[in-house]
Amino acid sequence: MVPEPVFKTVFNPPSSIRNYPILLVIILIAFAVSPLPVLGESSPTVRLLLGQNLPRAVISGDSLLIEKLEEGIWQPVIGRVRMAGFSPWRAGVRLEGSHSEESLFRVKADKGMLQYAGLRRRGYLTVRNSSGGLMVVSHLPLESYLAGVVNGEIDSSWPLEAVKAQVVAARSYALYQMSRGSVYFDLKTDVTDQVYAGVHSEDVRALEAVEMTRGQVLYKDGELIQAFFHSSCGGSTTSSLDAWGVARPAHESVTCGTCQDAPYARWNLPLSAGEIVEAVQTLVPHLSSLRFMGIHKRSGDGRVKTLYLETGEGRVLVDAGEFRKQIGYRRLLSTRFALGKSGERIILTGTGYGHGVGLCQWGARGSASRGMDYRQILRKYYAGAEVRRAY
Ligand SMILES: [Zn+2]
Repeated sequence: MVPEPVFKTVFNPPSSIRNYPILLVIILIAFAVSPLPVLGESSPTVRLLLGQNLPRAVISGDSLLIEKLEEGIWQPVIGRVRMAGFSPWRAGVRLEGSHSEESLFRVKADKGMLQYAGLRRRGYLTVRNSSGGLMVVSHLPLESYLAGVVNGEIDSSWPLEAVKAQVVAARSYALYQMSRGSVYFDLKTDVTDQVYAGVHSEDVRALEAVEMTRGQVLYKDGELIQAFFHSSCGGSTTSSLDAWGVARPAHESVTCGTCQDAPYARWNLPLSAGEIVEAVQTLVPHLSSLRFMGIHKRSGDGRVKTLYLETGEGRVLVDAGEFRKQIGYRRLLSTRFALGKSGERIILTGTGYGHGVGLCQWGARGSASRGMDYRQILRKYYAGAEVRRAY
């Protein structure tokens, strides 16, 4: 569990110190500059989108304080309630069971934690009307958020240096998104951004990795990098340019060689001609039959960039990333594959899981097991990047 930020200690010097004002000043300065072990302290606040276009939102807790924004100042509406229901009302939000209709509500817990959508929440929640439905956003310290990301992305029981590398990458990604987030939120809580598994997934190891790297992020040429990561690369990572057509600083292809223990290090996916036609139809309408599928182009690191299909309607080129999306990211695990045939079926034989850009999580685990520390691991996957404190 994260210790609550309650370090409002009154410094009451013993009489022997009261007689030595200079010493007292030195001690007070030392007290002021030494960081306290509280995750929320001096951490920026991140805004997580928990839901949008909702017909209703219910927030519960031991003792809730509900506030409304009036002329830029938060004003209490009601306090010490255990549950609050909200619904859209015209262009605003109605607090159910009251006459309060506002454009924005804030819900805090006087004690304990908030509960929303089955998970306990740190920080506070806001509820607003967005396009006719409700939008619920969680506001919490970035360091607390990171402790809840570790077990959503990897497993905190992995070697500590690998966990620390994941935390620094996740912090860099989050801080980058915070500097460019949308008007109302910075991050989503699923694989679109980073998988946030909430308070219940925090544990001692996750907190330790966050605390040991507090405020540390990745820079390249003085710029904060949007550090991407993925499960396993299957041998070498790929550049953002090859994967998405956009060159990102420190996201080049690098040799990994340490992710052989990943659960999807090697895989096979048999596909019928019908399944392939169905997937490609969303990209090339009016396609009816498949005669042959081959690889048109690979990237330098061996991933398929383009497939070519001989069809009843002629020859068609298909982007492999789009093909993977249409088949399903959890079925076609990566674009690093070869094609074979078994009877009527086309067999895709591949390695790795994920888009292959940035840090390879299972490779970081393997690197840590071979004695690399988190800075070395990060340098391995983010070419030319350096770890620095942002706060
Ligand atoms: Zn790898």
